Amino acid sequence: MVKAVVGANWGDEGKGKITDMLAKEADIVIRFQGGANAGHTIVNDYGKFALHTLPSGVFYGHTTSVIGNGVALNIPVLFQEIENLTGRGVPMPKILVSDRAQIVMPYHILLDQYEEERLGKKSFGSTKSGIAPFYSDKYAKTGFQVSELFDEELLAEKVEKTVEMKNVLMEHLYHKPSIDGKELLATLHSYREMIAPYVCDVSAYLDRALKENKAILLEGQLGTLKDPDHGIYPMVTSSSTLAAYGAIGAGLPPYEIKEIITVCKAYSSAVGAGAFVSEIFGEEAEELRRRGGDGGEYGATTGRPRRMGWFDCVASKYGCRLQGTTDVAFTVLDVLGYLDEIPVCVAYEIDGEEITDFPVTAKLEKAKPVLRTLPGWKCNIRGIREYEKLPENCRNYVEFIEKQIGYPITMVSNGPGRDDIIYRKK
Ligand code: GDP
Repeated sequence: MVKAVVGANWGDEGKGKITDMLAKEADIVIRFQGGANAGHTIVNDYGKFALHTLPSGVFYGHTTSVIGNGVALNIPVLFQEIENLTGRGVPMPKILVSDRAQIVMPYHILLDQYEEERLGKKSFGSTKSGIAPFYSDKYAKTGFQVSELFDEELLAEKVEKTVEMKNVLMEHLYHKPSIDGKELLATLHSYREMIAPYVCDVSAYLDRALKENKAILLEGQLGTLKDPDHGIYPMVTSSSTLAAYGAIGAGLPPYEIKEIITVCKAYSSAVGAGAFVSEIFGEEAEELRRRGGDGGEYGATTGRPRRMGWFDCVASKYGCRLQGTTDVAFTVLDVLGYLDEIPVCVAYEIDGEEITDFPVTAKLEKAKPVLRTLPGWKCNIRGIREYEKLPENCRNYVEFIEKQIGYPITMVSNGPGRDDIIYRKK
Protein backbone atom coordinates (compact mmCIF):
# COMPACT_ATOMS: atom_id res chain seq x y z
CA MET A 1 0.00 0.00 0.00
CA VAL A 2 1.47 3.31 -1.07
CA LYS A 3 0.47 6.75 0.20
CA ALA A 4 1.83 10.05 -1.07
CA VAL A 5 2.20 13.29 0.88
CA VAL A 6 2.39 16.23 -1.50
CA GLY A 7 1.83 19.99 -1.53
CA ALA A 8 -1.10 21.87 -3.10
CA ASN A 9 0.61 25.22 -3.45
CA TRP A 10 4.09 26.76 -3.58
CA GLY A 11 5.69 24.48 -0.98
CA ASP A 12 6.21 25.00 2.75
CA GLU A 13 2.70 23.74 3.45
CA GLY A 14 3.90 21.55 6.31
CA LYS A 15 4.48 18.31 4.40
CA GLY A 16 7.42 17.43 6.65
CA LYS A 17 5.26 17.40 9.75
CA ILE A 18 2.52 15.34 8.10
CA THR A 19 5.05 12.86 6.67
CA ASP A 20 6.82 12.56 10.02
CA MET A 21 3.43 11.90 11.63
CA LEU A 22 2.30 9.32 9.05
CA ALA A 23 5.73 7.69 9.03
CA LYS A 24 4.84 6.22 12.41
CA GLU A 25 2.75 3.65 10.50
CA ALA A 26 5.10 3.32 7.52
CA ASP A 27 7.84 0.80 6.79
CA ILE A 28 9.44 2.80 4.01
CA VAL A 29 9.54 6.57 3.32
CA ILE A 30 10.75 7.72 -0.09
CA ARG A 31 11.88 11.04 -1.53
CA PHE A 32 11.09 10.90 -5.25
CA GLN A 33 11.97 14.31 -6.70
CA GLY A 34 13.75 17.59 -6.01
CA GLY A 35 16.97 18.05 -4.15
CA ALA A 36 18.51 19.94 -1.29
CA ASN A 37 16.97 23.20 -2.53
CA ALA A 38 14.03 23.11 -0.18
CA GLY A 39 13.70 21.91 3.34
CA HIS A 40 11.20 20.32 5.64
CA THR A 41 11.10 21.46 9.22
CA ILE A 42 10.30 18.80 11.76
CA VAL A 43 9.75 19.15 15.46
CA ASN A 44 9.83 15.96 17.53
CA ASP A 45 11.24 14.46 20.72
CA TYR A 46 14.83 14.91 19.49
CA GLY A 47 14.38 18.63 18.81
CA LYS A 48 13.82 20.78 15.74
CA PHE A 49 15.41 19.70 12.47
CA ALA A 50 15.58 21.00 8.91
CA LEU A 51 15.81 18.14 6.42
CA HIS A 52 16.86 18.83 2.84
CA THR A 53 17.60 15.45 1.30
CA LEU A 54 16.58 12.79 3.79
CA PRO A 55 12.93 11.74 3.93
CA SER A 56 10.97 12.81 6.98
CA GLY A 57 10.84 9.23 8.31
CA VAL A 58 14.45 9.19 9.50
CA PHE A 59 13.51 9.77 13.11
CA TYR A 60 11.86 6.38 13.57
CA GLY A 61 13.84 3.22 14.17
CA HIS A 62 11.37 1.11 12.18
CA THR A 63 11.41 2.96 8.85
CA THR A 64 13.76 2.64 5.91
CA SER A 65 14.53 5.99 4.27
CA VAL A 66 14.89 5.84 0.52
CA ILE A 67 16.31 8.39 -1.89
CA GLY A 68 14.67 7.57 -5.18
CA ASN A 69 16.02 7.85 -8.71
CA GLY A 70 14.03 11.06 -9.28
CA VAL A 71 15.99 13.01 -6.67
CA ALA A 72 18.83 15.44 -7.38
CA LEU A 73 21.35 13.82 -5.04
CA ASN A 74 23.90 16.12 -3.43
CA ILE A 75 26.16 13.58 -1.74
CA PRO A 76 28.08 15.89 0.66
CA VAL A 77 24.82 17.53 1.76
CA LEU A 78 23.31 14.10 2.44
CA PHE A 79 26.31 13.23 4.58
CA GLN A 80 26.20 16.44 6.51
CA GLU A 81 22.56 15.79 7.21
CA ILE A 82 23.20 12.28 8.49
CA GLU A 83 25.99 13.59 10.74
CA ASN A 84 23.81 16.36 12.01
CA LEU A 85 21.13 13.86 13.05
CA THR A 86 23.41 11.30 14.67
CA GLY A 87 25.37 14.13 16.36
CA ARG A 88 22.14 15.21 18.06
CA GLY A 89 21.23 11.81 19.40
CA VAL A 90 19.03 10.45 16.58
CA PRO A 91 19.89 6.75 16.00
CA MET A 92 21.57 6.07 12.64
CA PRO A 93 18.70 5.70 10.17
CA LYS A 94 18.47 2.87 7.63
CA ILE A 95 19.13 4.63 4.32
CA LEU A 96 18.99 3.36 0.75
CA VAL A 97 20.00 5.42 -2.27
CA SER A 98 18.89 4.45 -5.76
CA ASP A 99 21.69 3.34 -8.07
CA ARG A 100 19.80 5.30 -10.74
CA ALA A 101 19.69 8.59 -8.84
CA GLN A 102 21.81 11.25 -10.48
CA ILE A 103 24.42 13.34 -8.74
CA VAL A 104 24.45 17.10 -8.23
CA MET A 105 27.97 18.05 -9.32
CA PRO A 106 29.99 20.97 -7.92
CA TYR A 107 29.71 22.69 -11.33
CA HIS A 108 25.90 22.52 -11.21
CA ILE A 109 26.00 24.67 -8.09
CA LEU A 110 28.45 27.11 -9.71
CA LEU A 111 26.43 27.33 -12.92
CA ASP A 112 23.26 28.00 -10.92
CA GLN A 113 24.99 30.89 -9.09
CA TYR A 114 26.56 32.31 -12.23
CA GLU A 115 23.33 32.16 -14.20
CA GLU A 116 21.39 33.98 -11.44
CA GLU A 117 24.15 36.59 -11.37
CA ARG A 118 23.98 36.96 -15.14
CA LEU A 119 20.19 37.36 -15.10
CA GLY A 120 20.44 40.03 -12.41
CA LYS A 121 17.03 41.59 -11.82
CA LYS A 122 15.40 38.93 -14.02
CA SER A 123 16.69 36.03 -11.91
CA PHE A 124 14.42 33.20 -10.77
CA GLY A 125 15.23 33.59 -7.11
CA SER A 126 16.91 30.19 -7.24
CA THR A 127 18.31 28.75 -4.01
CA LYS A 128 21.51 28.24 -6.02
CA SER A 129 21.69 24.57 -5.09
CA GLY A 130 22.34 23.54 -8.68
CA ILE A 131 18.89 22.06 -9.26
CA ALA A 132 18.06 23.64 -12.64
CA PRO A 133 21.48 22.87 -14.22
CA PHE A 134 21.27 19.37 -12.71
CA TYR A 135 17.91 18.51 -14.28
CA SER A 136 18.92 20.21 -17.55
CA ASP A 137 21.88 17.83 -17.74
CA LYS A 138 19.76 14.85 -16.76
CA TYR A 139 17.40 15.40 -19.66
CA ALA A 140 20.21 16.42 -22.01
CA LYS A 141 21.61 12.97 -21.12
CA THR A 142 24.87 14.36 -19.78
CA GLY A 143 24.25 13.66 -16.09
CA PHE A 144 26.07 11.19 -13.84
CA GLN A 145 24.13 8.28 -12.30
CA VAL A 146 25.24 6.93 -8.93
CA SER A 147 25.94 3.57 -10.59
CA GLU A 148 28.47 5.25 -12.89
CA LEU A 149 30.70 6.14 -9.94
CA PHE A 150 31.59 2.47 -9.80
CA ASP A 151 32.85 2.17 -13.37
CA GLU A 152 36.24 3.87 -13.31
CA GLU A 153 36.91 3.83 -17.04
CA LEU A 154 33.52 5.26 -17.93
CA LEU A 155 33.77 7.84 -15.16
CA ALA A 156 37.15 9.21 -16.27
CA GLU A 157 36.02 9.41 -19.88
CA LYS A 158 32.78 11.15 -18.94
CA VAL A 159 34.53 13.65 -16.70
CA GLU A 160 36.86 14.60 -19.54
CA LYS A 161 33.98 15.15 -21.99
CA THR A 162 31.92 17.06 -19.45
CA VAL A 163 34.73 19.40 -18.44
CA GLU A 164 35.37 20.25 -22.07
CA MET A 165 31.72 21.20 -22.56
CA LYS A 166 31.19 23.04 -19.27
CA ASN A 167 34.38 25.06 -19.64
CA VAL A 168 33.03 26.71 -22.77
CA LEU A 169 30.26 28.19 -20.58
CA MET A 170 32.60 28.97 -17.71
CA GLU A 171 35.04 30.88 -19.90
CA HIS A 172 32.91 32.48 -22.59
CA LEU A 173 29.49 33.03 -21.05
CA TYR A 174 30.28 33.59 -17.40
CA HIS A 175 33.96 34.64 -17.52
CA LYS A 176 34.77 32.49 -14.50
CA PRO A 177 37.65 30.09 -13.70
CA SER A 178 37.53 26.81 -15.65
CA ILE A 179 36.87 23.41 -14.08
CA ASP A 180 39.83 21.16 -13.42
CA GLY A 181 39.12 17.61 -14.62
CA LYS A 182 41.56 15.89 -12.22
CA GLU A 183 40.06 17.68 -9.25
CA LEU A 184 36.56 16.76 -10.35
CA LEU A 185 37.49 13.10 -10.73
CA ALA A 186 39.02 13.10 -7.24
CA THR A 187 35.81 14.65 -5.87
CA LEU A 188 33.77 11.91 -7.52
CA HIS A 189 36.03 9.26 -5.96
CA SER A 190 35.30 10.77 -2.55
CA TYR A 191 31.56 10.74 -3.37
CA ARG A 192 31.86 7.05 -4.31
CA GLU A 193 33.33 6.22 -0.92
CA MET A 194 30.62 8.16 0.89
CA ILE A 195 27.68 6.64 -0.98
CA ALA A 196 28.85 3.02 -1.45
CA PRO A 197 27.23 1.54 1.69
CA TYR A 198 23.77 2.79 0.71
CA VAL A 199 23.50 2.07 -3.01
CA CYS A 200 20.52 -0.11 -3.89
CA ASP A 201 18.40 -1.25 -6.82
CA VAL A 202 15.43 0.63 -5.35
CA SER A 203 12.70 -0.45 -7.80
CA ALA A 204 13.52 -4.13 -7.16
CA TYR A 205 13.54 -3.45 -3.42
CA LEU A 206 10.13 -1.76 -3.64
CA ASP A 207 8.72 -4.57 -5.76
CA ARG A 208 9.59 -7.02 -2.99
CA ALA A 209 8.27 -4.63 -0.34
CA LEU A 210 4.92 -4.34 -2.14
CA LYS A 211 4.64 -8.14 -2.35
CA GLU A 212 5.21 -8.25 1.41
CA ASN A 213 2.44 -5.67 1.93
CA LYS A 214 4.77 -3.10 3.41
CA ALA A 215 3.43 0.40 4.07
CA ILE A 216 5.18 2.85 1.78
CA LEU A 217 5.07 6.63 1.99
CA LEU A 218 6.11 8.93 -0.85
CA GLU A 219 7.22 12.37 0.29
CA GLY A 220 6.92 15.24 -2.17
CA GLN A 221 8.88 18.45 -2.13
CA LEU A 222 7.39 21.89 -2.97
CA GLY A 223 3.84 21.84 -4.40
CA THR A 224 1.65 21.72 -7.50
CA LEU A 225 2.25 25.35 -8.44
CA LYS A 226 5.99 24.67 -8.74
CA ASP A 227 5.47 21.73 -11.10
CA PRO A 228 7.25 22.32 -14.44
CA ASP A 229 4.16 21.26 -16.45
CA HIS A 230 1.21 22.33 -14.33
CA GLY A 231 2.73 25.12 -12.25
CA ILE A 232 3.48 28.80 -12.82
CA TYR A 233 6.03 28.15 -15.56
CA PRO A 234 8.77 29.37 -15.82
CA MET A 235 8.85 30.26 -12.12
CA VAL A 236 8.74 26.59 -11.22
CA THR A 237 11.13 23.94 -10.02
CA SER A 238 12.83 21.54 -12.40
CA SER A 239 11.26 18.22 -11.39
CA SER A 240 7.62 17.24 -11.15
CA THR A 241 6.07 17.89 -7.76
CA LEU A 242 2.99 15.75 -8.45
CA ALA A 243 2.05 12.52 -6.72
CA ALA A 244 1.87 10.84 -10.13
CA TYR A 245 5.59 11.42 -10.53
CA GLY A 246 6.11 9.45 -7.32
CA ALA A 247 5.66 6.30 -9.38
CA ILE A 248 8.48 7.33 -11.70
CA GLY A 249 10.80 9.00 -9.22
CA ALA A 250 10.67 6.00 -6.88
CA GLY A 251 10.19 3.22 -9.43
CA LEU A 252 6.85 1.68 -8.53
CA PRO A 253 3.58 1.03 -10.41
CA PRO A 254 1.27 4.09 -10.55
CA TYR A 255 -1.78 2.03 -9.56
CA GLU A 256 -0.17 1.18 -6.21
CA ILE A 257 -0.58 4.79 -4.99
CA LYS A 258 -3.89 4.46 -3.16
CA GLU A 259 -3.98 7.55 -0.99
CA ILE A 260 -2.86 11.02 -1.98
CA ILE A 261 -2.68 13.34 0.99
CA THR A 262 -2.39 16.89 -0.25
CA VAL A 263 -1.13 19.38 2.29
CA CYS A 264 -2.69 22.85 2.25
CA LYS A 265 -1.70 25.59 4.65
CA ALA A 266 -4.46 27.71 6.23
CA TYR A 267 -2.92 30.81 4.59
CA SER A 268 -0.45 31.21 1.73
CA SER A 269 3.29 31.66 1.51
CA ALA A 270 5.71 31.45 -1.36
CA VAL A 271 9.41 31.76 -2.00
CA GLY A 272 11.09 32.95 -5.17
CA ALA A 273 9.64 35.04 -7.96
CA GLY A 274 6.35 34.53 -9.82
CA ALA A 275 2.69 35.52 -9.72
CA PHE A 276 1.11 35.21 -6.27
CA VAL A 277 -2.42 36.57 -6.54
CA SER A 278 -3.45 36.62 -2.87
CA GLU A 279 -0.15 38.17 -1.73
CA ILE A 280 -0.23 40.74 1.06
CA PHE A 281 2.36 43.36 1.94
CA GLY A 282 3.50 45.75 4.64
CA GLU A 283 2.64 45.36 8.29
CA GLU A 284 -0.21 42.92 7.56
CA ALA A 285 2.25 40.56 5.84
CA GLU A 286 4.97 41.10 8.42
CA GLU A 287 2.69 40.11 11.27
CA LEU A 288 1.54 36.90 9.54
CA ARG A 289 5.16 36.09 8.63
CA ARG A 290 6.32 36.59 12.19
CA ARG A 291 3.52 34.49 13.66
CA GLY A 292 3.50 31.89 10.87
CA GLY A 293 4.75 28.29 10.84
CA ASP A 294 6.77 27.44 13.90
CA GLY A 295 8.94 30.46 14.59
CA GLY A 296 8.10 32.52 11.52
CA GLU A 297 7.86 32.02 7.77
CA TYR A 298 11.51 32.01 6.75
CA GLY A 299 13.01 29.51 4.28
CA ALA A 300 14.23 26.28 5.91
CA THR A 301 17.19 26.18 3.50
CA THR A 302 17.94 29.83 2.87
CA GLY A 303 16.48 31.72 5.86
CA ARG A 304 14.87 34.11 3.33
CA PRO A 305 11.60 35.75 4.44
CA ARG A 306 8.73 34.07 2.61
CA ARG A 307 6.17 36.06 0.65
CA MET A 308 2.83 35.95 2.46
CA GLY A 309 -0.81 35.89 1.41
CA TRP A 310 -4.33 34.86 2.35
CA PHE A 311 -5.63 31.39 1.57
CA ASP A 312 -6.16 31.05 -2.16
CA CYS A 313 -9.12 28.78 -3.02
CA VAL A 314 -8.49 29.04 -6.77
CA ALA A 315 -4.86 27.93 -6.55
CA SER A 316 -5.60 25.30 -3.89
CA LYS A 317 -8.55 23.73 -5.75
CA TYR A 318 -6.31 23.43 -8.81
CA GLY A 319 -3.40 22.26 -6.68
CA CYS A 320 -5.51 19.49 -5.15
CA ARG A 321 -6.99 18.47 -8.51
CA LEU A 322 -3.62 18.00 -10.21
CA GLN A 323 -2.35 15.95 -7.31
CA GLY A 324 -5.35 13.58 -7.50
CA THR A 325 -6.16 14.30 -3.88
CA THR A 326 -7.96 11.72 -1.75
CA ASP A 327 -7.42 13.63 1.51
CA VAL A 328 -6.48 17.19 2.38
CA ALA A 329 -4.30 17.87 5.42
CA PHE A 330 -5.07 21.46 6.42
CA THR A 331 -2.13 22.85 8.39
CA VAL A 332 -0.98 25.73 10.55
CA LEU A 333 -4.55 26.71 11.39
CA ASP A 334 -3.52 27.72 14.93
CA VAL A 335 -1.53 30.67 13.56
CA LEU A 336 -4.67 32.50 12.40
CA GLY A 337 -6.07 32.78 15.94
CA TYR A 338 -4.94 36.43 16.27
CA LEU A 339 -7.12 37.83 13.47
CA ASP A 340 -10.50 39.52 13.97
CA GLU A 341 -11.43 38.76 10.39
CA ILE A 342 -9.76 36.46 7.90
CA PRO A 343 -9.80 37.31 4.19
CA VAL A 344 -9.90 34.35 1.78
CA CYS A 345 -9.32 34.59 -1.97
CA VAL A 346 -12.35 32.89 -3.59
CA ALA A 347 -11.91 33.89 -7.23
CA TYR A 348 -9.63 35.80 -9.59
CA GLU A 349 -10.68 38.79 -11.60
CA ILE A 350 -9.01 38.99 -14.99
CA ASP A 351 -9.98 41.76 -17.42
CA GLY A 352 -13.27 42.28 -15.61
CA GLU A 353 -14.18 38.59 -15.60
CA GLU A 354 -14.31 36.39 -12.47
CA ILE A 355 -12.86 32.92 -12.69
CA THR A 356 -12.30 30.06 -10.26
CA ASP A 357 -10.20 27.84 -12.55
CA PHE A 358 -6.50 28.53 -12.16
CA PRO A 359 -5.22 30.06 -15.41
CA VAL A 360 -1.96 29.84 -17.40
CA THR A 361 0.89 32.11 -16.33
CA ALA A 362 0.32 34.97 -18.80
CA LYS A 363 -3.26 35.40 -17.54
CA LEU A 364 -2.26 34.84 -13.95
CA GLU A 365 -0.02 37.90 -14.08
CA LYS A 366 -3.15 40.00 -14.68
CA ALA A 367 -5.31 38.37 -12.00
CA LYS A 368 -6.60 40.33 -9.03
CA PRO A 369 -7.89 38.52 -5.94
CA VAL A 370 -11.60 38.48 -5.15
CA LEU A 371 -11.68 38.31 -1.36
CA ARG A 372 -14.36 37.10 1.06
CA THR A 373 -13.90 37.87 4.72
CA LEU A 374 -14.73 35.30 7.38
CA PRO A 375 -14.94 36.02 11.11
CA GLY A 376 -11.90 34.99 13.16
CA TRP A 377 -12.04 32.90 16.36
CA LYS A 378 -9.66 35.01 18.46
CA CYS A 379 -8.21 32.27 20.64
CA ASN A 380 -5.46 29.69 20.82
CA ILE A 381 -6.61 26.33 19.41
CA ARG A 382 -3.40 24.41 20.14
CA GLY A 383 -3.90 21.30 22.22
CA ILE A 384 -7.44 20.63 20.93
CA ARG A 385 -7.73 17.05 19.66
CA GLU A 386 -11.37 16.78 18.63
CA TYR A 387 -12.85 18.64 15.73
CA GLU A 388 -16.08 19.45 17.55
CA LYS A 389 -14.10 21.21 20.27
CA LEU A 390 -12.73 23.82 17.86
CA PRO A 391 -14.45 27.22 18.08
CA GLU A 392 -17.41 27.53 15.73
CA ASN A 393 -15.79 30.24 13.59
CA CYS A 394 -12.74 28.07 13.21
CA ARG A 395 -14.84 25.10 12.01
CA ASN A 396 -16.68 27.45 9.68
CA TYR A 397 -13.36 28.54 8.20
CA VAL A 398 -12.32 24.91 7.60
CA GLU A 399 -15.69 23.96 6.13
CA PHE A 400 -15.89 27.06 3.95
CA ILE A 401 -12.51 26.24 2.42
CA GLU A 402 -13.38 22.56 2.06
CA LYS A 403 -16.43 23.53 0.05
CA GLN A 404 -14.50 25.99 -2.12
CA ILE A 405 -11.73 23.55 -3.00
CA GLY A 406 -14.00 20.52 -3.32
CA TYR A 407 -11.74 17.96 -1.60
CA PRO A 408 -12.25 16.49 1.88
CA ILE A 409 -10.19 17.96 4.69
CA THR A 410 -9.62 14.86 6.83
CA MET A 411 -6.77 16.20 8.93
CA VAL A 412 -6.44 19.58 10.61
CA SER A 413 -3.04 20.45 12.02
CA ASN A 414 -3.04 22.90 14.94
CA GLY A 415 0.60 22.93 15.97
CA PRO A 416 4.03 21.86 14.74
CA GLY A 417 4.31 18.72 16.92
CA ARG A 418 3.53 15.15 15.88
CA ASP A 419 0.44 15.00 18.08
CA ASP A 420 -0.98 18.37 17.06
CA ILE A 421 -3.53 16.84 14.71
CA ILE A 422 -7.30 16.55 14.54
CA TYR A 423 -8.79 13.81 12.37
CA ARG A 424 -12.11 14.30 10.56
CA LYS A 425 -14.27 11.78 8.76
CA LYS A 426 -14.84 12.17 5.02
P1 GDP B 1 7.23 21.66 4.15
O1 GDP B 1 8.38 22.03 3.28
O2 GDP B 1 5.96 21.51 3.39
O3 GDP B 1 7.52 20.49 5.02
O4 GDP B 1 6.99 22.89 5.11
P2 GDP B 1 8.04 23.66 6.06
O5 GDP B 1 8.67 22.68 6.95
O6 GDP B 1 8.92 24.55 5.29
O7 GDP B 1 7.07 24.66 6.81
C1 GDP B 1 6.17 24.26 7.69
C2 GDP B 1 6.48 24.97 9.01
O8 GDP B 1 5.32 25.00 9.76
C3 GDP B 1 7.49 24.25 9.88
O9 GDP B 1 8.19 25.17 10.64
C4 GDP B 1 6.62 23.35 10.76
O10 GDP B 1 7.22 23.01 11.98
C5 GDP B 1 5.45 24.23 10.96
N1 GDP B 1 4.18 23.56 11.11
C6 GDP B 1 3.67 22.48 10.46
N2 GDP B 1 2.40 22.28 10.82
C7 GDP B 1 2.08 23.27 11.70
C8 GDP B 1 0.91 23.63 12.40
O11 GDP B 1 -0.14 23.01 12.27
N3 GDP B 1 0.99 24.75 13.18
C9 GDP B 1 2.10 25.49 13.33
N4 GDP B 1 2.08 26.54 14.11
N5 GDP B 1 3.23 25.19 12.67
C10 GDP B 1 3.22 24.09 11.88
